[in-house]
Amino acid sequence: MFMRRHAVKGSEQVRAIQAPKMTRFFDLAPDIISLGLGEPGFPTPASISAGGISAIQAGQTGYPPSRGYPELRQEICDYLFRKFEYPYSPEEVLVTVGGSLGIDCILRAFLNPGDEVVVPTPSYGYYESIIRLSGGTVVPAPTYADCEWKLTAETLKKSISSRTKVIFLNYPNNPTGSTMEKEEFAALVDVIQETQAIIVSDEIYAELTYSGKHNSILSFPSIKERAFLVSGFSKSMAMTGWRIGYVCAPASLLEPVALVHSIAALCAPGIAQAAALEGLKNGREAIDNMLHEYRRLREYTLGRIQSLGWECNAPGGAFYLWPDIRSTGLDAECFAQRLRDEGRVAVVPGTVFGEAYQYHLRISYACSMEILEKAFDQIEAFCSVFSS
Ligand code: PMP
Repeated sequence: MFMRRHAVKGSEQVRAIQAPKMTRFFDLAPDIISLGLGEPGFPTPASISAGGISAIQAGQTGYPPSRGYPELRQEICDYLFRKFEYPYSPEEVLVTVGGSLGIDCILRAFLNPGDEVVVPTPSYGYYESIIRLSGGTVVPAPTYADCEWKLTAETLKKSISSRTKVIFLNYPNNPTGSTMEKEEFAALVDVIQETQAIIVSDEIYAELTYSGKHNSILSFPSIKERAFLVSGFSKSMAMTGWRIGYVCAPASLLEPVALVHSIAALCAPGIAQAAALEGLKNGREAIDNMLHEYRRLREYTLGRIQSLGWECNAPGGAFYLWPDIRSTGLDAECFAQRLRDEGRVAVVPGTVFGEAYQYHLRISYACSMEILEKAFDQIEAFCSVFSS
């Protein structure tokens, strides 16, 4: 029997957004080395996984409390105070399905149609899609190589209007790896104080800070009062697939976000919560070992990029480099496509993080040294052929 194709379309809101450009890098031919994904190259440390396995064996498989297990929320507070001196209490913590759903729920809880959201660019591509899906308007606040991709007070000021509802900050930054000093944040505080905006400080890469000291706008009490800290375990504990993160904020701000999260997801997965708890309690050594390895990989990658003659800041955090490849004579889209097809290495063109970044690449070094060496040998061979 002939079946008619279903003619129902997705909602206008969904049709108005594009699939995040990053998804092009998820399905690659098996022989292509990927330096594309924002994903640790390590499996979850065995002791942390064991926390999840024990929870399954103990039958801890039901719905957890909607805001997360109290013991985990307490442990997150202890960790945040120990590591960054953030004084949060358990009522100010919401355990979420990854930092991603945390961000989504903040926006859904606060945005009215047409509200403006300031996003320093280049930025993590999902911000734009999530903001648009929540009915907000993205206002880019560009950052530049000569300021090491840090947001300046001057640029922030220019991006603000009477409709500014939310300001995003993401340091250490995806895709540039950039970090900010305390005094640089202080300059932003003065500008923020002239607005009613709430701040979303996405600090998912805070553990990956190579100077040893992570700085944040949250160290200013007047900002913490109106800010959300977004973080999680995906990067620091190599737990991307467990889907576990958290949001912290003063209780009155957190309330509507917790409501949206409980509607969207009921609760974050309990088995993942048990693993994260184990990681916070006993995982320090495993986390430090990963950090040590990232440091080595970062040095190596910077060296290889330098010998290709590409300009590149030495970033203070995360696990990405953001070189300028205009010396190759190709733009980033063309370079990335040819490198993937001819050189068999996937990197992400800068345009995924903002239209203006047509000569930048994001290269992730979160893989093994062996893979990185092979990838750069292939990149070098590819560059030598087309430039000769
Ligand atoms: N923020 C940034 C800047 C990211 O790069 C990512 C993951 N790529 C996330 C948030 C979300 O992480 P998750 O949902 O895995 O916690």
